[in-house]
Amino acid sequence: VYSIGVDLGGTKILAGLVNETGTIERIVELSTNASEGPEAVIERIVKSVREVKGTINNNEISGIGIGAPGPLDPLTGIVLSPPNLPGWDKIPLRQRIHEYFDLPSYLENDANAAALAEYRFGAGRGADDMVYITVSTGIGAGLILNGRLYHGAGGYAGEIGHMVVDAHGPECSCGNRGCLEALASGTAIARKATEAFGRPCTSKEVAEMAAEGNTVAASILDEAFHYLGIGLSSIVNLFNPSKIVIGGGVSQIGDVMFRRLSNIVRTKSFPAPGAMVEIVPAQLGRNSGMLGGAVLPWIYGSSSTHAS
Ligand SMILES: [Zn+2]
Repeated sequence: VYSIGVDLGGTKILAGLVNETGTIERIVELSTNASEGPEAVIERIVKSVREVKGTINNNEISGIGIGAPGPLDPLTGIVLSPPNLPGWDKIPLRQRIHEYFDLPSYLENDANAAALAEYRFGAGRGADDMVYITVSTGIGAGLILNGRLYHGAGGYAGEIGHMVVDAHGPECSCGNRGCLEALASGTAIARKATEAFGRPCTSKEVAEMAAEGNTVAASILDEAFHYLGIGLSSIVNLFNPSKIVIGGGVSQIGDVMFRRLSNIVRTKSFPAPGAMVEIVPAQLGRNSGMLGGAVLPWIYGSSSTHAS
């Protein structure tokens, strides 16, 4: 039995036909062209799903799962007003897709979808208490607790990017000060480097300069990892996960980052949970959101609360 996963992003729509072992049978990528507004984007989602579905009958497909940028309500399937989807305001995306294809349809925020994918098919396999964190322009997370995705009371759990790690730190896009995202995201690294070098710099350039021995670049990265490590230590104390899986562009920095984070977590969190947690890179790369969407019909298929 197949499932169809869709990753709706601010720049691309990725749809895939996936089987239960996580093999991608077909994949289609379209530009989101988000500036054209919700109706045009929904049309392209429909087009991408139609293409991967091909001539396969509905009875061979468990459903359609969409990972989309938050804020959204996974219980009602409504996309609220994501900053990178201009013009979207309370769009009942799940209902719209369901009406079009007459298949059970599901909606989940993108970080949660990626967490489900890594848990089922990737670096988090077998880890029933797992935290997935994506570090790119922003910082997001999905929590797998007791083998289930944890939503919290209203579906907003996992906003690790806005956990305060320095009460007197720089201002964050959310209005608070010293959030993890304001200190350790790709955007934060780029901002520091731009200040230090007096010219625009991306986080990728900072990583390259650090690898070539530039000590200023290395210390900018090290400071970002320091705050990320503080955040992870709190997560370890709070949830006692067996694995923390890190994805997103900044995680491409690789070994230097993972070694540093492991060291900080070993020294800053309580000894027992700090000793048992493994901090590992995500394995599914750019397909994680789409694969996570495909997982939704399999895990929610038997419950009526998440489907339309
Ligand atoms: Zn914030």
